[in-house]
Amino acid sequence: MEASPRNSQADRWQRPAVEVPKEEWTAIVVGGGPAGSTAALHLAGAGCRVLMLERAEYPRAKACGDLLIPDTLAALRRSGLYDRVTAEARPVDRALVSSPSRIEWSIPGEFLLLERERFDELLAEAASDRGAVVARGRVERVHNSDNGVGVHVAGIDDPFHARFAVLATGSDVSLLDELGMLQQPAPTAVAVRAYVRSPIRTDELFISFDREILPGYAWAFPLPGMKYNVGVGVLHDPDEPARYDLRQLFDTFRREVPAVRRLMSEAERVGPLRGARLRCGLRGARAHEGNIVAVGEQISTTYPFTGEGIGKAMETGEMAAAAIAAAAHGDPDALAAYGVDVETSLRPRYEGYAAAQRWLSRPWLNDLVSRRIRKGRFLQAAAAGMVAETVDPARIFSWRGLLRSLAG
Ligand SMILES: Cc1cc2nc3c(=O)[nH]c(=O)nc-3n(C[C@H](O)[C@H](O)[C@H](O)COP(=O)(O)OP(=O)(O)OC[C@H]3O[C@@H](n4cnc5c(N)ncnc54)[C@H](O)[C@@H]3O)c2cc1C
Repeated sequence: MEASPRNSQADRWQRPAVEVPKEEWTAIVVGGGPAGSTAALHLAGAGCRVLMLERAEYPRAKACGDLLIPDTLAALRRSGLYDRVTAEARPVDRALVSSPSRIEWSIPGEFLLLERERFDELLAEAASDRGAVVARGRVERVHNSDNGVGVHVAGIDDPFHARFAVLATGSDVSLLDELGMLQQPAPTAVAVRAYVRSPIRTDELFISFDREILPGYAWAFPLPGMKYNVGVGVLHDPDEPARYDLRQLFDTFRREVPAVRRLMSEAERVGPLRGARLRCGLRGARAHEGNIVAVGEQISTTYPFTGEGIGKAMETGEMAAAAIAAAAHGDPDALAAYGVDVETSLRPRYEGYAAAQRWLSRPWLNDLVSRRIRKGRFLQAAAAGMVAETVDPARIFSWRGLLRSLAG
């Protein structure tokens, strides 16, 4: 089969792991999603010798809503990639939210949409441009040794060696488990999405809290080129078996929610329905062990309830890169400090989202909050601030917040 131009371009910067020399690396990053690529990019920027191993060939599909919210945009700015992403992404400045009783309210904000297939490729290529070696290889084992780490790649006899490793394999926690860093193996949410092409134009994000889907929501997001990302995600207790059929929930959403029914009436499906598990709420794993740190969905950095995780995956990638650069320059406590730093700087945000989850998961409370947001400027501004990360969600999703909203 003839390679597409994009594939042949990828061939130049993503090499087969077998062709990579067995030299001593400062760091090996395992997994090339947003967390891994951001870590590799910042490590290379700090002058470290970095190898990033990704099992798939770019561009690779990833089930996602493809929505880049303000924390992702901030991470892109810090990484020097904002302009590159903006040049290809679709900008949207409003999300329309529909409650279980179809009470609608909207949140203004800066959002971008770009298919993950392209977004992740762009990030990995940027890491390569910055000096990281990006290679294709499935890592089977990572181990700590006295003076560094060994990284074993499928089909290659001898391990790669580095002083440090970054685990960034998303919701696949097998390596983390083998290292004894995993505390909660079960995912906390599952979601599916499909791409459709429709001649009907909408310029806003649509989010629907259907009664059947709570705790969770369905979405229809506009992408570049009259494509839409339509999906549904449900949270579940990791200790209990899932009791829903996501495919059926997806069908109910596309048939019964008026705005989506209209969009889908003339739509053509592009590709299959794809799903993935999510690890949310910053719980269930230790972020540091010996010379190894874990980032992104490995340590459940995806937000509870909204399921947005790209921004925090990138943020932990950045934090891990800074810690490794400091350790490489002789700071013996830098990696342990990374684990503490993740807890202290990020934990409060997850608590706010967990409060939002508790509130919006109950249909009557979801309706009540929606009514109040529609009516009062205080809650409208607070909801916009929550998305922009300038307002703690707990300020809205509390009786105090609701009482405050009565004043206007
Ligand atoms: C349906 C769905 C919708 C979502 N919608 C959104 C959204 O709209 N916005 C948002 O911000 N977040 C969304 N999320 C969450 C988001 O996808 C994750 O938070 C994010 O992908 C986490 O990034 P990561 O780099 O940690 O992991 P990933 O993106 O999963 O990347 C992990 C990488 O590691 C590679 N890998 C795995 N194992 C190995 C191995 N052994 N060796 C080598 N490579 C390996 C994988 O191939 C993959 O490329 C959604 C999730 C789902 C499932």
